Amino acid sequence: MNKYALVTGGSRGIGRAICLKLARMGYTLLINYRSNETEAKRTLEEIESLGGKGELMPFDVSDADSVNKALNKWISEHAGSYIEVLVNNAGIKQDNLMIWMTEKEWYNVINPSLNGFFYVTQLLLKDMIVKRFGRIINVVSLSGIKGMPGQTNYSAAKGGVIAATKALAQEVAKKKVTVNAVAPGFIRTDMTEGLNENELKKLIPSGRFGEPEEVAELVGFLASPAAAYITGEVISINGGLYT
Ligand code: NAP
Repeated sequence: MNKYALVTGGSRGIGRAICLKLARMGYTLLINYRSNETEAKRTLEEIESLGGKGELMPFDVSDADSVNKALNKWISEHAGSYIEVLVNNAGIKQDNLMIWMTEKEWYNVINPSLNGFFYVTQLLLKDMIVKRFGRIINVVSLSGIKGMPGQTNYSAAKGGVIAATKALAQEVAKKKVTVNAVAPGFIRTDMTEGLNENELKKLIPSGRFGEPEEVAELVGFLASPAAAYITGEVISINGGLYT
C-alpha cells in the first residue's frame, strides 16, 4: 500500500529537497506548485531517478476553490488511502517598508502562507485523525519569530502560522497527529537569489547560507515515527543567527 505525502510548493527550492527526502523515506509524493510546471516535472524526474514515485498536483494554496477541487479529486480517486504527511511549504515574499506597503503586497504574502495553511490542512486533517496517524510540518521563518524590517507582511504571515501550529498541535495530539514548524534563516534558493550573500553571511555565526537539503533532513525527522513525541514545536535552522 502506498504511503502519501503532500508538499506544497514542491517544484523548487526547499520544497523540492523535502520531496526528495520524503521519497527516500518511502513516500509517494504529491508535488504541489502554482505555475512552474517545468520545475515541478524536474522534481518528479529526480524522485523517479531515486526509484521513488510521485505525481504533480498544481493548485494555488491561497485559493480555497482551487485547493478543494484538486484535493477532493485526489481523495475521491484514492478510496482507502490518505495523505499522512503534509508539508505546508508554499510561500512568497514581497518586501517593502510598512510605510510604502500596498494592501496588495500585504495580502499577496499573507494569503498563501496563512490562508494556504488553513485551506490545505483543514481538508486533510480529518483523515489523519480518523486513521490515528498524521504529520503536519509548516515551513515558517526566522522572520516569523524575530520580525524582520521590510517584511511586516511576511513576518505576520509566518508568525500567524507559528501560533496556529501551537494551537492545532494541542487539538490533535491525542489522535497521534503531530503539528510542528521549522523556521529557516537564510537558505540558498530562488527566494534568496537577489540578496547580498557575502554581506549577510557575516551576520551568521556559521558563516554561510544553509542548503535546502539541510532543511529537508529536519523535516524528514519530524515526519518520521521517531518524532512521535515532538509536537507544537518551532525548530529553528539558521546557522545560529538568532532564535
Ligand atoms: P522558492 O524557491 O521561491 O519556491 C517557492 C515555492 O512555493 C515554489 O514551488 C512555488 O511554486 C510555490 N508557491 C508559491 N506560491 C504558491 C501558491 N500560491 N500556491 C502553490 N504554490 C506556491 O522558495 P523557497 O526559498 O524554497 O521557500 C520555501 C518556503 O520556505 C517558503 O514558505 C519560504 O517562506 C520559506 N523560507 C525560505 C527561506 C529561504 O531563505 N529561502 C527562509 C525562511 C523560510 P512555483 O514554482 O509554481 O512558483
